[in-house]
Amino acid sequence: MTRAVQITAAGGPEAMTLTEVSLEASGPGMVQVENRAIGLNFIDTYHRSGLYPMPLPSGLGTEGAGVVTAVGEGADLAVGDRVAYCSAGIGSYAEALNLPAARLVKIPEGVDFDTAAAVMLKGQTVEYLLQRCRPLLSGETCLFHAAAGGVGLLFGQWASALGATVIGTVSSAAKAELAAANGYAHVINYSEQDVAAAVADITGGAGVPVVYDGVGRDTFAASLASLQPRGMLVSFGNASGAPEPVDLQRLAQGGSLYVTRPTLVTYTGTTDELRDSAAAVFERVLDGRLRVEIQQRYPLERIADAHRDLEARRTTGSTVIVP
Ligand code: NDP
Repeated sequence: MTRAVQITAAGGPEAMTLTEVSLEASGPGMVQVENRAIGLNFIDTYHRSGLYPMPLPSGLGTEGAGVVTAVGEGADLAVGDRVAYCSAGIGSYAEALNLPAARLVKIPEGVDFDTAAAVMLKGQTVEYLLQRCRPLLSGETCLFHAAAGGVGLLFGQWASALGATVIGTVSSAAKAELAAANGYAHVINYSEQDVAAAVADITGGAGVPVVYDGVGRDTFAASLASLQPRGMLVSFGNASGAPEPVDLQRLAQGGSLYVTRPTLVTYTGTTDELRDSAAAVFERVLDGRLRVEIQQRYPLERIADAHRDLEARRTTGSTVIVP
């Protein structure tokens, strides 16, 4: 047996309960992992609320780091290996769980469990957004929404290290300060300022060639309006709700604009892609190019409070759940 968070119906944070569940022996290709740290991500709230429907009852949570305690037939890991995971299935809010070995990565020496759980999903997201989805070039300017969030703080550091000028949006002065300390050359407070007008000011009227938008409904129109002709909107999340359907004529009016809606799962679909992406993240953590800001910690028993704080915009940087 182990303790795990379960939901039986989609709903608010109160829909989650921490219960005793049975933990079966690892089947072929699977390993058992005892979690030492669990990552909190906005996608967990979409699974809980039903925005991303899934079969119920279900566990919850997509990211964690821990130690392999049992190995199924054919799995390429050993008991005692330190591993991290983030696209291996849903159910990481647990003390222990079975996971497919092909979706795990070994944590390099020098990276602790908390850091691994705080950086893997968010860091891999930044890796594929910046290097493979819409590669950002040195000298380019881009716009990123929710700059002081978990993905946001890592994005600012990585993009500025590429030699890009990064404009970020945030909802408060304290978040603006944090974003500025993490690579953002310009920070717009979108609770007070018109984003497209501020971007026009910063870019001398030109607009930006690319916007990375994880906020969704509330920022979508401003993101399109901030683009220069032939620019690309990378719409990768729904923190404020899912964006409305796109009128293709709007893309013509903006000047031959592009919109893409990428997911981490498709950019780390093969084991090689997954491990290469993780290696790029951990390499930057180890050599100091990426500083992982763990700003909140909650025991697993307080998972509902963690979701409430994330959804109420009270968190910054990464959050770790302690099993
Ligand atoms: P964050 O830590 O960034 O938290 C979300 C932030 O969004 C808030 O702190 C808040 O910042 C901002 N926000 C704006 N409007 C709202 C609103 N109405 N309600 C709540 N928050 C709002 O979360 P993550 O780092 O975990 O994820 C960031 C985004 O990236 C999410 O949309 C997530 O789904 C997406 N994502 C997508 C992936 C993909 O591959 N497609 C992979 C990983 C993440 P502020 O107060 O400054 O506005």
